[in-house]
Amino acid sequence: MTARIGLLGGTFDPIHLGHLRLALEVRESLGLDHVRLLPCHQPPHRAAPNVGSAERTEMLRLALADCPELQLDARELERDGPSYTLETLKSLREELGEDARLVWILGCDAFVGLEKWHRWRELLDWANFLVVSRPGWDIPTQGPLAAWLSEHGVEPRSLLDRPAGGIAVQTLRLLPISATEIRALIQSGSSPQFLLPDSVWHAIRERGFYRAR
Ligand code: ATP
Repeated sequence: MTARIGLLGGTFDPIHLGHLRLALEVRESLGLDHVRLLPCHQPPHRAAPNVGSAERTEMLRLALADCPELQLDARELERDGPSYTLETLKSLREELGEDARLVWILGCDAFVGLEKWHRWRELLDWANFLVVSRPGWDIPTQGPLAAWLSEHGVEPRSLLDRPAGGIAVQTLRLLPISATEIRALIQSGSSPQFLLPDSVWHAIRERGFYRAR
C-alpha cells in the first residue's frame, strides 16, 4: 500500500489543542496513515521561540503520548542552521520513497507568509499542500500566492492522487487557540488550563516555562 502521510510543521511554543485537533481532523478527512508533527529547530521567518527546541519537543512527546495517529518527527533538530522546510521535505522523500503521498498541512495564517519561505515555489516538487482555514484569516485572492493556488489547486479529495504537486484548500472547524495567547496568559499569571493537554501544562509549571522574567 502506498504510504499517505500528513506533515504539520510548527514552533509548537507550546503545543496546544488547536494543533492537535487540526492534525487529527486532517488525518481523518483525507484518510492519512498518520500525521507527523515536526518541531522547528531554528525558525527562519520569525523570532526565536521562547523555549528551546529540546523542551518544545519534550512537550510534544507528552502531548502525543496517547495518540498513535499523530507522531513526533524531530528531524529538524538534527540539522544546524535555519530549519528550511524544503530540506525537511527532501529528507522525508528520501526516507519514504518517491510514491509516498506527502501532504504538508498549513493554517492559512502560515500560508499567507509562504512567499518568504526559502525557495517556496520548489516545495511542491516534494509534497502536496493542504491549506486549512483558521478564524480571522482569508486565503489570498490576488498576487503570487493566489496565482500559485489557481495553477496547482485541486479538490481535497483528489489531493492524494499524486505524490506531490497539488494544493487544496479545506475549511475545518478549528479551535481559536494560539500559542501566543497561552504564553501571554502564563506571563500574566492566568491559567491556560484546558487550552492545551494537561500533561503539557503540568510540565510548563514544573519547569517554569513562559513565566515573566
Ligand atoms: P504562535 O501564536 O506562537 O504564532 P501558533 O499557535 O500559531 O503559534 P505555530 O507553531 O506557529 O502555532 O503553528 C503551527 C501550524 O499550526 C501553523 O500551520 C498554524 O497555522 C497552525 N495552527 C496554529 N494554531 C492553530 C489552531 N488553533 N487551529 C488550527 N491550526 C493552527
